[in-house]
Amino acid sequence: MFEVRLAPVGLDRLAQLLASERARRLEAAALRAQEQLRGRVVWNVNATATGGGVAEMLQVLVAYGRGAGVDTRWLVLDGDPEFFTITKRLHNFLHGSSGDEGSLDDRARSHYEQVLARNLDELLQRVHPQDIVILHDPQTAGLVPGLVAAGAHVAWRCHIGRDTANELHDLGWAFLRPYIMAAHAFIFSRREYVPAWVRDDLVWVVPPSLDPFSAKNADLDPEVVSTTLHVAGLVSTSSPTSVTEFDRRREGHGRVRHRDSLIIDGPPVPGDARVVLQVSRWDRLKDMEGVLRGFADNLSGLPDDAHLVLAGPDVTGVTDDPEGGEVLASCLELRVSMDTSIRRRIHLTALPMDDVDENAHLVNALQRHASVVVQKSLVEGFGLTVTEPMWKSRPVVASAVGGIQDQIDHGVNGLLLDDPYDLDGMVKGVDTLLRDPETAQQLGERAHRTVLDRFLGDRHLLQYGELFASMIE
Ligand code: UDP
Repeated sequence: MFEVRLAPVGLDRLAQLLASERARRLEAAALRAQEQLRGRVVWNVNATATGGGVAEMLQVLVAYGRGAGVDTRWLVLDGDPEFFTITKRLHNFLHGSSGDEGSLDDRARSHYEQVLARNLDELLQRVHPQDIVILHDPQTAGLVPGLVAAGAHVAWRCHIGRDTANELHDLGWAFLRPYIMAAHAFIFSRREYVPAWVRDDLVWVVPPSLDPFSAKNADLDPEVVSTTLHVAGLVSTSSPTSVTEFDRRREGHGRVRHRDSLIIDGPPVPGDARVVLQVSRWDRLKDMEGVLRGFADNLSGLPDDAHLVLAGPDVTGVTDDPEGGEVLASCLELRVSMDTSIRRRIHLTALPMDDVDENAHLVNALQRHASVVVQKSLVEGFGLTVTEPMWKSRPVVASAVGGIQDQIDHGVNGLLLDDPYDLDGMVKGVDTLLRDPETAQQLGERAHRTVLDRFLGDRHLLQYGELFASMIE
């Protein structure tokens, strides 16, 4: 187990974007929380420091919590490959999908418990009775009973779920139920994800949020975008800004190393191409392969300058996602089997994970460069990869599943695909937006407004403040 140490970030940074009444509410809540939580630590425990939406949010919320004067910390648990295979299975089950086809049998339970028992020992050396602990996702569920017994106030937060139950989903919950029942509070991203047996008065529905100032979302001027992508070998621009000029301009926007190319197997995207982008972990449920297939099969109907970029992490870095390598390999195989004329318009990237800021800056630049962003998830807890391009006023075509439905209103601030398996529908949506830039721009502008109104950190922090107050009263 290790601690991710983050410097405090003052709430005034966020407040400058908010209308004055909203900014005042945030400031008042921070003062209240400071008072109420004096002498206690608010701990967050999850399974990874990088990669995925939970790590993304903790980077920001922990820093703001500290900036608000609350001793907020973040610990990452230790596990071995077998543990992460089991927890990935649990993750898939809660999404209603079988993943690696393995089961959650007694052997799996016993290994899960052994790994968490070791983590609990370490945790109890740091956590004091009366501290607040937020445990994130199935990987941490088994820590609930031990922490409750030690006198901590424990909330279990589940970032995943599916809108309707199925057999696998029920099996996943049956595995977790004995551990989480003792929690003092439960946090879900959507009401639909709450199992019927969780006490209603302990449930908090808290959708995720994004930070407009993080390396992932900060404003970038168009030249920084284009040179960033050029320097990383992702896009070939004919007249890139000189590297010295680039180094000067990107100051404060995260580092980007000069690389031959981050494209796996293939040329960079031509500078004058219009990019259709999906950014995701290499997870079957994000269906990168489906996006690739749909794009390739319908390429002749799309404008000639449309290129697909599938951007995901360099999977060697994500220790809690054993499936990643397999999914990336099958996307590569599929691409290689295609005709050259198709292949040259499809680009797979492996974004470096060893430097969080660099990764975030690259995703930021890619999202800003994209003409259309796709998120064709088969199921989705919330989908920050939808919120992020929406903040950047990009038009998004995404499946109407999970939390994506809370973000996109079809035809108003993006396009929704009713059937997440409908490849033709996905391409039709992309095609419409590429051929009608005016509509695309309108959808993008309204998308930005949606995020400003509903998915920034102040709403998230206010909800946390209320939750903590209720837990310690
Ligand atoms: N992400 C990233 N680099 C990648 C792939 C994903 O930084 O190569 C980020 C992405 O920008 C988003 C998060 O990981 O912030 C994914 O969150 P989301 O809620 O979309 O899905 P999750 O991965 O949590 O299922």
